[in-house]
Amino acid sequence: MNRSTASLLALALLLAMAISTPAQIDLDQKIESNIHDWVGTYKFLHEHPELSTQEKETSAVVASQLKKMGYDVTDHFGQYNSGLAAYGIVAVLKNGTGPTVYIRTDMDALPITEKTGLPYASKVREKRPNGEVGVMHACGHDLHMTVFLGTAKMMIESKDQWQGTLVLIGQPAEETIGGASAMLKAGLYKRFPKPDYVLALHDSSALPTGIVAWHSGPMLAGADSVDITIRGYGGHGAAPNLTKDPILIASELVVALQTIVSREMNPLVPTVVTVGSFHAGTKHNIIPDDAHLQLTVRTMTPSQRETVLAAIKRITNGVAETAGVPSDRMPIIEIATDNVPATINDPALTARVAVGLEKSLGKENVWPGDPIMASEDFSLFALEDPKPPISMFWLGAVDPTKWKEAKDKGIHLPSLHSSEFAPLPEPAIRTGVKAMTGVATELLKK
Ligand SMILES: [Zn+2]
Ligand SMILES: [Zn+2]
Repeated sequence: MNRSTASLLALALLLAMAISTPAQIDLDQKIESNIHDWVGTYKFLHEHPELSTQEKETSAVVASQLKKMGYDVTDHFGQYNSGLAAYGIVAVLKNGTGPTVYIRTDMDALPITEKTGLPYASKVREKRPNGEVGVMHACGHDLHMTVFLGTAKMMIESKDQWQGTLVLIGQPAEETIGGASAMLKAGLYKRFPKPDYVLALHDSSALPTGIVAWHSGPMLAGADSVDITIRGYGGHGAAPNLTKDPILIASELVVALQTIVSREMNPLVPTVVTVGSFHAGTKHNIIPDDAHLQLTVRTMTPSQRETVLAAIKRITNGVAETAGVPSDRMPIIEIATDNVPATINDPALTARVAVGLEKSLGKENVWPGDPIMASEDFSLFALEDPKPPISMFWLGAVDPTKWKEAKDKGIHLPSLHSSEFAPLPEPAIRTGVKAMTGVATELLKK
C-alpha cells in the first residue's frame, strides 16, 4: 500500500464513521454478536419445514424465542374458514406513547423436494395418495422468520431509541392463502393494539445479498382462479358433423383469451391471463361432451380485475355462440371465492420505509424495486378496519458472486419456489435485521 492509498483509506474510514451514528454502530455490533446464533436458527428452520396450516413446531420455535425475549405472546391465534385452528402468533411490546407498528413474517413451506444439496437441506417428506413429496422452504419464509426474530431482539435491546408499540405477527398459511384472513377474522386488530403501519419483507431471488429494494404502489398482483366448462355434445370421432366438439371450441377459446392482454388492456398496466390446465376427452375416436379449462388471472387494481373478468365471460360466451352451442349448453364460468387482491404499498409509508432503509444500509445498498405478478395475502392487512397503510420491501438473497456471474454470462438463477433456491444466509440475515430494525426505529423514533 502506498501513502496516497493509505490516506484515501483513512479518509474513507473517517467518512464512514461520520455517516454512521453511535446508535447505528451500536446496532451493528449487536448484530455481529448475534449473527452466529441467527444462522443456526435459520438452518434449523430450513431443515424442519412445515406445510401451510401445519406450522405447529415452527410456530412453537418462533413463539418461545419471542417469549424468552420478553414479548407478550399469544400463540395458536386465528381460525380458518373450515373451522380449523391456525398457528398464528401475536407478540406485543409496549414502550411508551407513540404509534403502533406491526411487523409480519410468514412461516409456511412448500410441497417441493429440495435439490440444493446443502448440508442443512430438508429431508422432510409428506405422504400423498399418489406417492411422497418433499417439503421445502423454497420461498424463503425461513429467512423471513429468522430476520423477524433478529429484529425482535434488536428492538428490545434498543428500547431507549424508540417509543410506541411494536406488534410482531407470525402468519401461517401464506402459500395457500388463508393465514392472513384467519388472523384478521379472529380479531387481530380488535384484540391487540390497532395498527398505524404494517410492514413486511420478502426475500428476492433476483437481488444479491446486502441489497434491499422498495417499490411504491402496486408491488404484487391480485390473483383470481377461473374454471371454465365448455359444453358441446359428443359422439363418434368419425362423424364430427353430428357433434358440437368442445375440444375445438375450448382450443379457440384459449387463443381468443390471449387478446384480453394484447388488445384490451392498457399496455402500461401489467395483466396476466394464463390457461394452466386443459382437460377433455378419453379416447382417440370419441368427441367428448365437455372440456375444462383452469385459468389464473393477475391484475394490479380492482377496476382492472373487473374488466379482465368481464372480458373472460364475454369472450367465452361469444366463442361458444359462434360455434353454434345451443343456449341451454352455454359455458359454465366459475370465479373462485378465495381470490387475493393486489399488494399495494402505501406511497407515504413507503417513502418513510425508504428513509429508514437508507439510514440503516446506506443509499448505495437501497435500490428501486420491481413489482412482480406473484401474489400474497399480505395485501389483506390493508383492507381490514382501520385499513392501515402497508409496505413490503425486497431483501436480496442471492450469493453476490453467483448473482454477478449470472448477470454477466446470462446464466439462469433458481427462482423462488424452485427446488434449487438457496439463499446465502449470513449476509441476507445481517442485512434483513439491519433493514427492518432501521425501518421500525424510523417509524417509532422519539
Ligand atoms: Zn411463495
Ligand atoms: Zn413467500
